[in-house]
Amino acid sequence: MVKQKADTTEKTKKLLQQYALRKTGCRLEVLSLLLQNKSALAHSDIEKQMGDKFDRVTLYRTLHSFEEKGLVHSIHDVSGAVKYALSRETSSQQQRHDNHIHFNCTACGQTFCLNEINIPSLSLPSGYKVNSLHFSAQGVCSTCETN
Ligand SMILES: [Zn+2]
Ligand SMILES: [Zn+2]
Repeated sequence: MVKQKADTTEKTKKLLQQYALRKTGCRLEVLSLLLQNKSALAHSDIEKQMGDKFDRVTLYRTLHSFEEKGLVHSIHDVSGAVKYALSRETSSQQQRHDNHIHFNCTACGQTFCLNEINIPSLSLPSGYKVNSLHFSAQGVCSTCETN
């Protein structure tokens, strides 16, 4: 357990370095929270987890800088709430971070990134250009399915 925590801290520091982000206390904590969660987190979830360690503005700026650098991506779930999830580490710059399906569980309300399912590229009529593409699926997640 102790070792796992140390691993997370190491990974967190490495990621911040990789994305050229300064290591601030808030960034380290928010990032390790996102690393430990399998599902995407809403701003309010993160706020709750942090208690009163950091104010709203600091958290907002932290998430914004993560998103700007491509370390996290935001997801609009079915209810319209914005959630944040870590972007998969991509080997090539060409590969888009948001090129995957998001799964909304109707039982627990959690949103998951299905990184292993790639969205095929679309052949659009000439003159059309896609800036962003969002695929989301609704159903029951594996945890809720077995309970
Ligand atoms: Zn579920
Ligand atoms: Zn995602």
